[in-house]
Amino acid sequence: MTIRIYNTLTRKKTPFVPREGGGNGMYIRLFVCGPTVYDYSHIGHARTYVAFDVIVRYLRYRGYEVYYLQNITDIDDKIIARARETGMNCQELAGTFTRAYLEDMRALRVTSVRKYAPATEYIDAIVGQVQQLLELGYAYELDDGYYYDVSRFQEYGKLSGRTLEDAEDTVSRIDDARGKRNKADFCLWKRFKPGEPYWESELGKGRPGWHIEDTAITETEFGPTYDAHGGAQDLIFPHHEAEIAQMEAISGQKPMVNYWLHTGFLKVGGRKMSKSLGNFITIREALQSWDVDTLRLMLISTHYRSPINFTETAMTESRDRLRYIREARKAGVKAGDMKPWIARFVAAMDEDFNTPSVVALLFELAKQMHKTGEDLTPALDEIGEVLGIDFHPPVDQLPHELLAMIKHREELRRQKRWDEADHLRTELEKRGILVKDTPEGTEWTVDRPESRSK
Ligand SMILES: [Zn+2]
Repeated sequence: MTIRIYNTLTRKKTPFVPREGGGNGMYIRLFVCGPTVYDYSHIGHARTYVAFDVIVRYLRYRGYEVYYLQNITDIDDKIIARARETGMNCQELAGTFTRAYLEDMRALRVTSVRKYAPATEYIDAIVGQVQQLLELGYAYELDDGYYYDVSRFQEYGKLSGRTLEDAEDTVSRIDDARGKRNKADFCLWKRFKPGEPYWESELGKGRPGWHIEDTAITETEFGPTYDAHGGAQDLIFPHHEAEIAQMEAISGQKPMVNYWLHTGFLKVGGRKMSKSLGNFITIREALQSWDVDTLRLMLISTHYRSPINFTETAMTESRDRLRYIREARKAGVKAGDMKPWIARFVAAMDEDFNTPSVVALLFELAKQMHKTGEDLTPALDEIGEVLGIDFHPPVDQLPHELLAMIKHREELRRQKRWDEADHLRTELEKRGILVKDTPEGTEWTVDRPESRSK
């Protein structure tokens, strides 16, 4: 079986075939648009980054080596505006929110990104790409910077089916300038204005436009063409369209990217999330109310391409499901056959990463354990590791019997009955409990699937 992926570019689901190079057809280069670091990330971001985290974990589970690259937009109009509001300098502000973003990702257990690439570390590559676009006649100069002439790129619009922004575009960052050749032309290099950060370059003092950051980063890390590009749906136009126009014009090679994957919108309580509606939720706020396992389970209960509605009810449901699945662990008394369950898991994930089917499967598996006493925990743990969800009960809910074993072992140590204590340690390990003896007494942790992965 091969993995089939829905591709925004071809508007079809097709078998996933990596490009050649990097070792027997099992090497994948994936780029996903990262955040603009001017504020805390919200649960809409969580949706996208958890979705790609699960996708990459699954590809690795299936034996692929994935170079997962993400940019960090650490210079942008939004950063400059926020820095002015708060009285911080841009670098400080971007640094603060880059750190906050990485903390949020750790808290969300998004561990699959191999490299985070801040745009400001790629200024030379950005300048180089703008120069090439000028030489090739795709770019022109205006008073306030350099622009891309979309009428020169025949296939402009091939990803999105559009060539113009409309009022609905929330993140289009339309570059308004007098003298643009076409309404949709976008800025590649913004000329220095007093009070703004700048770099000295052969294009003059200035800073990068938004779209060029990503192609400069991907060309540096991957080359002009690569396997897959992801991001939230609202980035398709003009951001991803612009990336194609830049890179394919420069390299003359197409397609720049073989597979385009986009995540659906997240709404809160059925409405678009916004600060003015009072339904804006940051990742940290969400994780104060809910644990990461509940949140991840809720997010993957909807297919990554579909819109998702974040509600109290959906979260409560997810928490209850998780509890039901975890409780099934205790029901297992006789060895069960995990093979058919794993086969069904793989079949669901191979079909464009159908996580809602997997959630239903887990529920069915737990039900089976509750009903028949079959122990299917190895299947549960294997699937949990790919989903980044811990199906062990939280530590404070350790079964009474295990707590008693830990206590008994402490007593044995006090009596210096080392052999018996060691034997009990092995018994506990078999059940997934790691004990450590410290001068303060015995500490213990649950050997979660998470901590076993490299
Ligand atoms: Zn991007």
